[in-house]
Amino acid sequence: MTEPTISSKAAPVRFENVSKVFGRDVIAVDSIDLHVDAGKLVTLLGPSGCGKTTTLRMIAGLEMASSGRILIGDRDVTKLPATDRDVSMVFQSYALFPHMSVLENVMYGLTFSGFNKEEARARALKGLDLVGLKGFDSRLPSELSGGQQQRVAVARALVLEPQVLLFDEPLSNLDAKLRRQVREDIRAIQQDLGLTVVYVTHDQEEALAVSDEIVVMRNAAIAQKGTPRQLFDAPNDRFVADFIGEANLLSCTIVSVDADRATIEIDGHRHVLPARGLAPGPATLAVRPSRIIVGGDTGIPATVAKSTYVGVRMEYTLTGGFGQVFAVHEDVDDPIEPGTNVKMSFAAKGPVLLPE
Ligand code: ATP
Repeated sequence: MTEPTISSKAAPVRFENVSKVFGRDVIAVDSIDLHVDAGKLVTLLGPSGCGKTTTLRMIAGLEMASSGRILIGDRDVTKLPATDRDVSMVFQSYALFPHMSVLENVMYGLTFSGFNKEEARARALKGLDLVGLKGFDSRLPSELSGGQQQRVAVARALVLEPQVLLFDEPLSNLDAKLRRQVREDIRAIQQDLGLTVVYVTHDQEEALAVSDEIVVMRNAAIAQKGTPRQLFDAPNDRFVADFIGEANLLSCTIVSVDADRATIEIDGHRHVLPARGLAPGPATLAVRPSRIIVGGDTGIPATVAKSTYVGVRMEYTLTGGFGQVFAVHEDVDDPIEPGTNVKMSFAAKGPVLLPE
């Protein structure tokens, strides 16, 4: 694979101790430090109300920081209005002009920022080509599907060649299949052109699929940041473990630690895994649904409470002395019936220890 190029205008973004307070006491963003490298795609991920959109809007200049500093490249933009920042944003609602053709929509920002008509037209056509909409230039937005309209919105933002491109939940109005396709297109264009992108979503799978780095937010602060794999394999706490990849969280006891390998016990069953700096005593085990082994001769006694066939896999809900867990299994040919007593154990790789 060739190393992606960095677009000549792509710039890093830096937040230094940035807060945003609405009114007297709504702290939407609380003293965050954030760095987005030039040419990278960083996702802000978190539940509703955690402050991701406000963070994005502060990069755009659509909200002003209450305190702290925001830099784009070397420039301190903290107090600059949106119009003086070299940033474009793609919204979830597309926000296309309904009475303008696709081409006019994409040209609009270009003519506004000083390109003559010919140049604007040439750039807009190139932008439409990039998003796979060659030949659609004379249509009206109403004559396009939702996915195509969102591509027009992406082209319109791209052609401005901003220092930073912002996406606010760009796929939420699309159905599942289109969502996958458009997110792959966005990622491919970002990598080909080496764009700096900050992307907001509440969908963990989308974040894992498109990002160089994910910033997980909770209650106006950053809970953890890292590559998709770092967050998935080594979450810092229960919140991140559960938010990224639907972890089952089980109470366990660390019975011994030897050279950073911990032996844990749940309902008499023992399992060895990295200790991650924890000492013997009570702890939490986070296990992804795909890392739970259902059946076998040894393990924790459990009962299959629910068994659901979803085509590509079986989904099981298991209950026992540990509470309840959700497990998925690729073997769809021999489903385990509800009510069956089984043994449950954990895959050698995948489960992680967290503080209690
Ligand atoms: P969602 O996924 O629901 O959009 P979010 O993580 O993007 O959520 P924000 O929109 O950034 O969250 O909102 C963070 C907090 O700030 C919320 O409590 C919200 O109610 C509050 N908030 C956002 N905008 C305003 C505003 N203009 N005035 C007052 N409070 C606001």
